[in-house]
Amino acid sequence: MNKTAIFPGSFDPYTSGHHDIVIRGLDIFDEIVIGIGYNSTKQTRYFDIDLMVEKIEEVYKDTPQVKVVVYNELTSSLAKKHNANFLLRGLRNTTDFEYENTISQMNRFLNEDLETVFLITSPQYAAVSSTVIREVHRYGGNVSEFLPYEV
Ligand code: ADP
Repeated sequence: MNKTAIFPGSFDPYTSGHHDIVIRGLDIFDEIVIGIGYNSTKQTRYFDIDLMVEKIEEVYKDTPQVKVVVYNELTSSLAKKHNANFLLRGLRNTTDFEYENTISQMNRFLNEDLETVFLITSPQYAAVSSTVIREVHRYGGNVSEFLPYEV
């Protein structure tokens, strides 16, 4: 049976830390669907959603096992739609753990076939966060080191 995982997140922006989780995830799963959670009526993103989809697709243009979708529904419903029995998430620290623990329990309550698989960050990406990258970019700093594509 094909093992499909959803890698859900805001990806505002998609970072080298996210990319590392996906590449390592491909050793476990046959297919990974990167799901960008986005509510068009809220407009709270910093990086444009269409630009981010384009950039992520560019990163995986030679990796057909990786797909990108934008979604505005429960992650557990998205998983059902893609016949995915797994969610893939990354853990950097205990703050991530506290949050991930809660949402993983909830996702399994909503879809009992859905197991969340956590990969611990690679040390070189432990300090890479979308929030910090947005701040640095906003004030004109160079963030290319932390992104797997050019902006
Ligand atoms: P969310 O808005 O759901 O927190 P993010 O886009 O910030 O989503 O992150 C998606 C997933 O990637 C989360 O599981 C997060 O913990 C993980 N992640 C973010 N940055 C890193 C990193 N540098 N290394 C490993 N995992 C990471």
